[in-house]
Amino acid sequence: MDPQAAWQLMIDSFQEHDWPQLLDAAEGLQNWMSRGGCPPATVPGRRMGSLWDEQLASSICRFAADLATRVLADANGIPDGVPFSLSCCECDAEGPGTFAEAIAEGWTGIEFTPEGLAENFFGLCPQHGSDEE
Ligand SMILES: [Zn+2]
Repeated sequence: MDPQAAWQLMIDSFQEHDWPQLLDAAEGLQNWMSRGGCPPATVPGRRMGSLWDEQLASSICRFAADLATRVLADANGIPDGVPFSLSCCECDAEGPGTFAEAIAEGWTGIEFTPEGLAENFFGLCPQHGSDEE
Protein backbone atom coordinates (compact mmCIF):
# COMPACT_ATOMS: atom_id res chain seq x y z
CA MET A 1 0.00 0.00 0.00
CA ASP A 2 1.05 3.59 -0.60
CA PRO A 3 0.12 5.28 2.69
CA GLN A 4 0.52 8.74 1.20
CA ALA A 5 -1.94 7.91 -1.57
CA ALA A 6 -4.39 6.52 0.99
CA TRP A 7 -4.05 9.69 3.10
CA GLN A 8 -4.71 11.86 0.04
CA LEU A 9 -7.66 9.66 -0.94
CA MET A 10 -9.13 10.22 2.54
CA ILE A 11 -8.82 14.00 2.15
CA ASP A 12 -10.31 13.93 -1.35
CA SER A 13 -13.15 11.59 -0.32
CA PHE A 14 -14.06 13.83 2.62
CA GLN A 15 -14.22 16.92 0.42
CA GLU A 16 -16.16 15.07 -2.28
CA HIS A 17 -18.55 13.55 0.28
CA ASP A 18 -17.66 10.07 -1.03
CA TRP A 19 -18.41 8.29 2.25
CA PRO A 20 -17.92 4.66 1.11
CA GLN A 21 -14.52 5.56 -0.34
CA LEU A 22 -13.59 7.50 2.81
CA LEU A 23 -14.46 4.49 4.95
CA ASP A 24 -12.41 2.14 2.75
CA ALA A 25 -9.38 4.43 2.69
CA ALA A 26 -9.48 5.07 6.45
CA GLU A 27 -9.80 1.39 7.32
CA GLY A 28 -7.13 0.43 4.81
CA LEU A 29 -4.62 2.94 6.14
CA GLN A 30 -5.40 2.04 9.75
CA ASN A 31 -4.88 -1.66 9.00
CA TRP A 32 -1.63 -0.89 7.19
CA MET A 33 -0.25 1.06 10.16
CA SER A 34 -1.44 -1.51 12.69
CA ARG A 35 0.63 -4.12 10.82
CA GLY A 36 3.73 -1.94 11.16
CA GLY A 37 3.44 -0.03 7.88
CA CYS A 38 4.90 3.46 7.86
CA PRO A 39 2.45 6.34 8.29
CA PRO A 40 1.85 9.02 5.66
CA ALA A 41 3.39 12.47 5.99
CA THR A 42 0.51 14.36 7.57
CA VAL A 43 1.75 17.95 7.34
CA PRO A 44 2.44 19.13 3.78
CA GLY A 45 5.92 20.53 3.32
CA ARG A 46 7.10 19.69 6.85
CA ARG A 47 8.94 16.57 8.04
CA MET A 48 7.31 15.69 11.37
CA GLY A 49 8.61 12.14 11.92
CA SER A 50 6.75 8.86 12.33
CA LEU A 51 5.70 9.43 15.97
CA TRP A 52 3.73 12.53 15.00
CA ASP A 53 2.53 11.18 11.67
CA GLU A 54 1.33 7.86 13.07
CA GLN A 55 -0.55 9.52 15.94
CA LEU A 56 -2.24 12.07 13.71
CA ALA A 57 -3.01 9.63 10.89
CA SER A 58 -4.37 7.06 13.33
CA SER A 59 -6.64 9.61 15.01
CA ILE A 60 -7.94 10.88 11.69
CA CYS A 61 -8.49 7.33 10.39
CA ARG A 62 -10.65 6.54 13.44
CA PHE A 63 -12.54 9.83 13.11
CA ALA A 64 -13.09 9.41 9.36
CA ALA A 65 -14.20 5.78 9.58
CA ASP A 66 -16.60 6.61 12.41
CA LEU A 67 -18.05 9.63 10.61
CA ALA A 68 -18.43 7.79 7.30
CA THR A 69 -20.11 4.88 9.09
CA ARG A 70 -22.63 7.24 10.71
CA VAL A 71 -23.40 8.98 7.39
CA LEU A 72 -23.88 5.63 5.63
CA ALA A 73 -26.06 4.31 8.48
CA ASP A 74 -28.72 6.98 7.87
CA ALA A 75 -31.11 6.70 4.92
CA ASN A 76 -30.85 10.48 4.34
CA GLY A 77 -27.10 10.68 4.92
CA ILE A 78 -27.59 12.69 8.13
CA PRO A 79 -24.98 11.41 10.61
CA ASP A 80 -26.13 10.79 14.15
CA GLY A 81 -24.44 13.02 16.71
CA VAL A 82 -23.55 15.91 14.37
CA PRO A 83 -25.20 19.22 15.38
CA PHE A 84 -27.87 20.06 12.80
CA SER A 85 -27.08 23.53 11.48
CA LEU A 86 -28.58 24.21 8.04
CA SER A 87 -28.29 27.01 5.47
CA CYS A 88 -29.81 27.49 2.03
CA CYS A 89 -27.09 27.25 -0.63
CA GLU A 90 -28.95 29.87 -2.73
CA CYS A 91 -29.86 32.63 -0.27
CA ASP A 92 -27.99 31.71 2.93
CA ALA A 93 -31.28 31.51 4.88
CA GLU A 94 -30.92 29.61 8.13
CA GLY A 95 -32.92 26.43 8.57
CA PRO A 96 -34.56 24.95 11.65
CA GLY A 97 -32.69 22.97 14.28
CA THR A 98 -33.59 19.44 13.21
CA PHE A 99 -33.76 17.46 9.98
CA ALA A 100 -37.41 16.52 10.66
CA GLU A 101 -38.39 20.19 11.09
CA ALA A 102 -36.56 21.13 7.91
CA ILE A 103 -38.40 18.47 5.89
CA ALA A 104 -41.73 19.55 7.43
CA GLU A 105 -41.02 23.17 6.42
CA GLY A 106 -40.28 22.14 2.81
CA TRP A 107 -36.47 22.17 2.68
CA THR A 108 -35.05 19.89 -0.01
CA GLY A 109 -31.69 18.51 -1.10
CA ILE A 110 -30.24 18.56 2.40
CA GLU A 111 -26.66 17.34 2.34
CA PHE A 112 -24.02 16.88 5.03
CA THR A 113 -21.23 19.37 4.29
CA PRO A 114 -18.66 18.96 7.07
CA GLU A 115 -16.21 21.31 5.37
CA GLY A 116 -18.61 24.23 5.86
CA LEU A 117 -17.49 27.12 8.04
CA ALA A 118 -20.74 28.14 9.72
CA GLU A 119 -23.04 25.17 9.18
CA ASN A 120 -22.88 21.38 8.92
CA PHE A 121 -25.61 20.99 6.27
CA PHE A 122 -26.62 22.75 3.07
CA GLY A 123 -29.96 22.47 1.32
CA LEU A 124 -32.60 24.47 -0.53
CA CYS A 125 -35.03 26.54 1.53
CA PRO A 126 -38.76 26.18 0.70
CA GLN A 127 -38.57 29.24 -1.59
CA HIS A 128 -35.55 28.10 -3.60
CA GLY A 129 -36.45 24.42 -3.64
CA SER A 130 -39.80 25.21 -5.27
CA ASP A 131 -38.14 27.58 -7.81
CA GLU A 132 -36.41 24.62 -9.38
CA GLU A 133 -39.54 22.55 -9.92
ZN1 LIG B 1 -33.05 30.00 -0.18
